[in-house]
Amino acid sequence: MMQRALFSRGALLAQQATTLEGSLASKSAPLLQRLDRSMSSLPVPPPACMLRPLEAPYRYLFGPGPSNVPPRIQAAGGRPIIGHLHPEMYEIMNDIKKGIQYAFQTENNMTISMSGSGHAAMECAVFNTVEPGESVLVAVNGIWGERVAEIAERMGANVTRMVKSPGGCFTLQEIEQAMAKHKPVLFFLTHGESSAGLCHPVDGIGDICLKHNCLFLVDTVASLGAAPIFMDRQKIDILYTGSQKALNAPPGTAPISFNERACQKMFNRKVKPVSYLFDMTHLSNYWGNDGQPARLYHHTGPVSGFFALRESLAILAEKGLEESWRQHKEVAAHLYKGLEDLGLKLFIQDRDLRLPSVTTISIPEGYNWREILAYVMKHHNMEFTGGLGPSMGMVIRIGLMGYNCKTTNADMALAAMADALKNCTKSKA
Ligand code: PMP
Repeated sequence: MMQRALFSRGALLAQQATTLEGSLASKSAPLLQRLDRSMSSLPVPPPACMLRPLEAPYRYLFGPGPSNVPPRIQAAGGRPIIGHLHPEMYEIMNDIKKGIQYAFQTENNMTISMSGSGHAAMECAVFNTVEPGESVLVAVNGIWGERVAEIAERMGANVTRMVKSPGGCFTLQEIEQAMAKHKPVLFFLTHGESSAGLCHPVDGIGDICLKHNCLFLVDTVASLGAAPIFMDRQKIDILYTGSQKALNAPPGTAPISFNERACQKMFNRKVKPVSYLFDMTHLSNYWGNDGQPARLYHHTGPVSGFFALRESLAILAEKGLEESWRQHKEVAAHLYKGLEDLGLKLFIQDRDLRLPSVTTISIPEGYNWREILAYVMKHHNMEFTGGLGPSMGMVIRIGLMGYNCKTTNADMALAAMADALKNCTKSKA
């Protein structure tokens, strides 16, 4: 709310400035300059939209991400830029590495943040650990497995998909059978399937991968900080996440970690990875992980994004993972109860398999889901979303992550949903 107030004040000031500018039109240098530029003789004149101030409304981001950024993280991201190769920046990156190790529960040295969104981490994981022609096994039970399968196919891997309908779970036996048959070098699983609202069990899969000499890659973009994951204990070889969900940092950075087994594979390749930007040989040096005395220029990291990511990891460390997991579970339980009281059905029936950060609701019979989303946005300034990929048209998703994960926010979401159900058209059929 405070953030909203700050924002409205900012908007008000901008509005006042515009009005003042209007009244002083004849004397206002900036306006004259603007008019001047709009009458430019260049073949492509400055676009009219660029001569207007930026507008970015405050919204309740209660979808599957991005989530609202708390003022403390926003302030960190707004600090003055320093050079990406300054010693202070290296210190900040070292801190980020430690923060990720805590969040992932790993002691892996090869822990960094990608300069890019969750997809950057997905591509980094696949590009570095797989070579063209190698076999990759992917569990597809929503959109994210399909994405990784496509990424692996694009770089020339031999991909086998194990497919279930959205929200389906894979047994250890199914995974082991497929592994024995296809002999993959990499097996991919999504921990928090945000398109289906599923939190897939991970225990035991690492052992199977180890037995079959296959690397275990896990996506925790939507689940990190919301549901327990133990990278080392669960024998996960490569783990990644995104900044914009339960970590509440702005989108654009993506923590990733590789264990020793993954390093052995990715640093003993026959051919270089297809991407220069995502090549872990360079990135490990940039992050000071390769034991070399000098950290060299590879690319210009997102300095402000790293400031914000550091702050978000600091907040998680202060709060503690156990408390964060507990809070997500508690608020999710409150939301489930409220939704059921409204007569709604939760898409994932087994309560223990529900993703605490993103709740999926089966589309209530007779309603048009798009109308519900539009109503909630228009009348409550709140984002819920529909399904994604194979869950499109099956679910409505409500995400309460990190800073947003509060009982009061769950109540606001429930009130918005109740209002939508009352006022949106329900077909008689
Ligand atoms: N994996 C999962 C589980 C996700 O929820 C998302 C984002 N919705 C991604 C990967 C991709 O992340 P990004 O949009 O940051 O590239």
